[in-house]
Amino acid sequence: MIPTFRHGVKTKGRKEYTENMPFEEYPVGDFVYIPLLQHIGKPATPLVIVGDKVKCGTKIGEADGFISANVHSSVSGEVTGIVDLPCATGLPTTHIVIKNDYKYEEDFLSPIQNPTKDEVLERCKEAGIVGMGGATFPTIVKLMPKTPIKALIINGCECEPYITVDYRLMLEKAAEVLSGIDLVKRALGVNKVYFGIESNKPEAIIKLRDISTDDEIEFCELKTKYPQGGEKQLISAITKEKVPKGGLPSDLGYVVFNVSTVYALYEAVYLGQPLIYRHMTVSGNGVKRAANLRVRIGVQLSDIVEYLGIEENVVKVVLGGPMMGVSLHNFKSTITKGSSSLLLLAEKEIREIEPTPCINCGRCAKACPMFLMPMVTDRAILHGDIEGANNSYAMSCIECGCCAYVCPARRPLVQSQRLAKKLIRKNKLTPA
Ligand code: SF4
Ligand code: SF4
Repeated sequence: MIPTFRHGVKTKGRKEYTENMPFEEYPVGDFVYIPLLQHIGKPATPLVIVGDKVKCGTKIGEADGFISANVHSSVSGEVTGIVDLPCATGLPTTHIVIKNDYKYEEDFLSPIQNPTKDEVLERCKEAGIVGMGGATFPTIVKLMPKTPIKALIINGCECEPYITVDYRLMLEKAAEVLSGIDLVKRALGVNKVYFGIESNKPEAIIKLRDISTDDEIEFCELKTKYPQGGEKQLISAITKEKVPKGGLPSDLGYVVFNVSTVYALYEAVYLGQPLIYRHMTVSGNGVKRAANLRVRIGVQLSDIVEYLGIEENVVKVVLGGPMMGVSLHNFKSTITKGSSSLLLLAEKEIREIEPTPCINCGRCAKACPMFLMPMVTDRAILHGDIEGANNSYAMSCIECGCCAYVCPARRPLVQSQRLAKKLIRKNKLTPA
């Protein structure tokens, strides 16, 4: 039997729209708008002023503390503005506006061959690498765990529907991905690697197995099920161990890295290229030409939509995957380090139905990969019972969306969990 975790849902994968499309370079236009906050933590501090000349890779934002990340220019040209603009969540964020001179002069770091552990750590920090699987947590923090690590786990599941970025990287850049894994091994001082890949990506598994010369990498074919790529679910599927409630993978001696992140680390160390590109999928029935793109960070979504074309049938726009992404109301925000996909969805791809009262069918609990009772949290929130929401272990929710996906009453269960977490924090309750 193919290994997996307990619970979760089978989604319509819809990978076929883009899985056979190689990456194409997006031709960036006159301006990029680069946010100083593209990661979990504090925004970077601006290092440039209006009128400064920059090149591709010039550091324009300095990490503000350990939980922060450097930001670099993705084009060469002139800084024409430092302005507050809404990011994808709608919150205003400081952006550096750069007018592209179309020369693409580079200001990269020096490539390092055969780096030491300290050189990998320093380069990871300098290049502004963050987790590119969605969390955007500064990668340097993960590379400096406080507890001993027994194995590295690579997440090649890409379980969100539509997205085919990691799949294409595993096919097109397999050697580079494996080199990136070797860098993480050096930084962590570990030998053992588990590489988890869902069973719907057989070509990637074959390709990686064929070219890998590292006997310590164990390729693990995992069942195609959502959220197989969730850190806790991935660890459970591969090792059968359970991350304790409120705990981290490192508590069990594991560190999990996403494929796009190890590839970014490869580019930073061996090419000297800071994190200035994002590989992304643009898909859905509402886009005229679905594609996998290599995009410079700071490109406006409207430019990408214009480039690929938009159908009249679009009823929903999502940045990220359909399960955990953010719904957008316009195309004003820009591509950041965490933008794995842009989905233009037509009516037949979504189920926008008004919620009705819960019928106590229990499907949400059966789907929840964290073994929660989402209907209990939902009910508690409806009644303003914050303590009750806390007692339903809302703080353990990973916001995967499985519960809402299966709910026949279309209850807004993820929103209830998010609100519960917010209120638990606001009221300073100890998480149950
Ligand atoms: S309660 Fe949270 S963890 Fe459980 S299925 Fe819903 S969103 Fe996922
Ligand atoms: S799936 Fe929906 S209707 Fe069924 S118990 Fe959960 S919240 Fe209620």
